[in-house]
Amino acid sequence: MTSQVIIGNWKMNGLVADARTLARAVADGVSSDTGPRVVVCPSFVHLSTVAAELSGSAVALGAQDCHHEGRGAFTGDISAPMLADIGVRYVILGHSERRAGHQELDEMVRQKAVAAASAGLVPVVCVGETQDQRAAGQARDVIGYQIEGSLPQDFAGIVAYEPVWAIGTGQSASIDDIADMMAFIRAELARQFGEGGKTMQILYGGSVTPRDASAILRVAEVGGALVGGASLKPESFLDIVRASA
Ligand code: 13P
Repeated sequence: MTSQVIIGNWKMNGLVADARTLARAVADGVSSDTGPRVVVCPSFVHLSTVAAELSGSAVALGAQDCHHEGRGAFTGDISAPMLADIGVRYVILGHSERRAGHQELDEMVRQKAVAAASAGLVPVVCVGETQDQRAAGQARDVIGYQIEGSLPQDFAGIVAYEPVWAIGTGQSASIDDIADMMAFIRAELARQFGEGGKTMQILYGGSVTPRDASAILRVAEVGGALVGGASLKPESFLDIVRASA
């Protein structure tokens, strides 16, 4: 069985010293034998510091976004080859905070996923419905369209299901809701990608804490967790890592 993946998304938090301390604590707390794959995603400006702390550890480095072009006149942007060059192995794409705050559309996310894969990075593409969409009974349609629009045809990365209404609220989706959406996403991936879609790893994200991690990580089709707030506290994050199968 493929091991689960636990990814810490540090978002826009901390200064260099905080990133260094957090990275060291996570690196020290994760052993290289049989557990889940563990990834931390600091902000761009902390990547090199964190890379140095993680060197020789079992923890991989991820980024929170990349541009879809490899190089050029794109002021303020960071390309996938730049990330790969400094030791980044994973990249979160299409997070709801970027879809909402930076008007990232499915097509843009898809182009970024292509760029990430061609630079040798593992794209972690996020999908998730808002509270309004859920209340209107549109959750499945929204997720189906996001999968269709955001994942390139030869996608070989990770999909993260993050219901927008569960992010940062302290209240994860219920186990039944997660199980239901995971089954739907698996069926969609299989329908859209054939054999490849049957084995693609699917993560859950949205207020994962040590309290509910083990129940969530045992839901069928859950291939790991994308953790925000709890990944900023080393003990909480390591408890979630330990809760993984
Ligand atoms: P929280 O765990 O803080 O809800 O954040 C989830 C998330 O957005 C991870 O990408």
